[in-house]
Amino acid sequence: MRWSLRLGGYRGIEVSIHLTFLLLLAFLGVNTWLASGSVAAVLGGLGFILLVFACVLLHEFGHALTAARFGIRTRDIVLYPIGGVARLERMPEDPRQELWVALAGPAVNVVIAAVLLLWLVVSGALVPVDQLGWARGPFIERLMLINLFLVGFNLIPAFPMDGGRVLRALMALRMDYTRATQVAAGIGQALALVFGFVGLLWNPFLLFIAFFVWIGAAQEASMVMMKSSLGGIPLQRVMLRDFATLDADDQLLRAVQVTLGSSQRDFPVLEEGRLVGVLRQEDMLRSLHDTGPGARVREAMQTDFRTAHLGEMVEAVFQRLGECRCRTLPVTDVRDQVVGLVTMEHMGEFLRIQAALRR
Ligand code: ZN
Repeated sequence: MRWSLRLGGYRGIEVSIHLTFLLLLAFLGVNTWLASGSVAAVLGGLGFILLVFACVLLHEFGHALTAARFGIRTRDIVLYPIGGVARLERMPEDPRQELWVALAGPAVNVVIAAVLLLWLVVSGALVPVDQLGWARGPFIERLMLINLFLVGFNLIPAFPMDGGRVLRALMALRMDYTRATQVAAGIGQALALVFGFVGLLWNPFLLFIAFFVWIGAAQEASMVMMKSSLGGIPLQRVMLRDFATLDADDQLLRAVQVTLGSSQRDFPVLEEGRLVGVLRQEDMLRSLHDTGPGARVREAMQTDFRTAHLGEMVEAVFQRLGECRCRTLPVTDVRDQVVGLVTMEHMGEFLRIQAALRR
């Protein structure tokens, strides 16, 4: 993950900020300095932004920890200048679970806003809203309003907002998942048009949102279409049967020869017929550069790898390919023999053929 800075982690979830986020801080800092010329104003402004992003981070943890309750891991949370993204390894299949995961983020901001409001009321610090500005008025009250804004903004019923997922989940309780996604994506794109139109006349910020919503809706719809076209197909029908394997004691030279003589990029590595590793092309190239062609495959291969099983369905394997971010999975049979390969490229080809057949 280049371009982002690791901040820390909690319960196995890495948290990092994208470097453009630092640009945002620098931009706001310089702007405040030019407008006010006061160090206190600059620090106050930056402190406020950091607190807002702490609330965004808690929002993302709301999603991630709820997903964890359903056994879904979160790869990481990245904070971008426009908000946070919790990258879940997958979305829940059950619409009820998706509903909870989607609602958990905004719910966190509702709780924060309620606590802050309570504090403002008890301490008598509440002032009328029209006396507030981005950098004017009580800190706590501004933070409360930002949290309310985050709730409203995220519940816009369009992908990639949480509201889009809520809408889809609610519809999926009553209809087929693919159909629900198409309808939700359609509503999202209609909203994007409205935002775009209003944005042109009135507020350029809305144009920006319209753009994101339009792209998000299209992406979600095509992801689900793809998944549904994979449903019910056994892996045996799709896997590559014509492939080469390497022996752990082979020299890299042999890997080079096999690579040049075929289009295969990653190789299952065997030792006495048993699968012990996967040699990826990038590992091979790195070892060739570092140690030369005489190095053993054993020294260059990945020993921490995932496999697919012959009896599995394509959909599950496709998901695993996405989760492990690997390109190739060896397919094994009941006796743990490698009988095939699944690759991203080959899956892509299969999907294109499926789409052509349906037309
Ligand atoms: Zn959210």
